Amino acid sequence: MKGRMIYPAFLLAVIVSAGLATAAFLPGKGNSPGVLRRERVFAWLANPAVHPEWAAPLGLRCGNAPFVLPTGGLIGFLWGDSFRIGHRHQGIDIFGGTPVGRSAVVAAYPGYLTRLPEWKSSLIIRVPDDPLKPGRQIWIYYTHMADSQGNSYISEQYPPGTEEVYVPAGTLLGYQGNYSGDPDNPVGVHLHFSIVKDNGNNGAMNEFKLRNTLDPSPYLGIELNAWRNKGELPGCLPGPSSG
Ligand SMILES: [Zn+2]
Repeated sequence: MKGRMIYPAFLLAVIVSAGLATAAFLPGKGNSPGVLRRERVFAWLANPAVHPEWAAPLGLRCGNAPFVLPTGGLIGFLWGDSFRIGHRHQGIDIFGGTPVGRSAVVAAYPGYLTRLPEWKSSLIIRVPDDPLKPGRQIWIYYTHMADSQGNSYISEQYPPGTEEVYVPAGTLLGYQGNYSGDPDNPVGVHLHFSIVKDNGNNGAMNEFKLRNTLDPSPYLGIELNAWRNKGELPGCLPGPSSG
């Protein structure tokens, strides 16, 4: 599994970059909210001070949701958003509205952290027991924690080659960056956060494919799914789990 994780991380960064750089959203079902979100991301990146109310706080926990929000900022793109034909976003993107290296990223949930030797901006945390489906193992993937040149903002406690280090929820993992793999075309400063299914052999599936990932929204208690969300700012779901 580990070799296969590198390539998707790079591609994903490029795709997010392309999504920000073009107006190539698909027409049709489910995409109007995506267009609204893209416009909001552009406005936020241009001047976050105009809309401080758009930022969700780092560490936010909605009601009894198992995960905390792993970083602060505008929850810009959602699981299922489409940036181009044939592609749907496999995670959520949270844009800090800060320069690179400033917006802290913490563990959303406890687990066992691995960082491959070649990973500049990414790490993955194994969760042996899915809190929403006990008995199932899942993997939480965090990326874009490096600058455009590939200088890492991952905490020095987790150098390349780290394997299976236990981290409690809330542990500082690093800081948001804009690494895309192409120094000339960095992404907007953000964290990409996704939940990857287990491959049945104690490894993560290829996180580049939507079908290999899970919608993070129920884990965060936040209305995030691209098809359900109507373009409003995602927030804690109403009901007994809110608080
Ligand atoms: Zn993303």
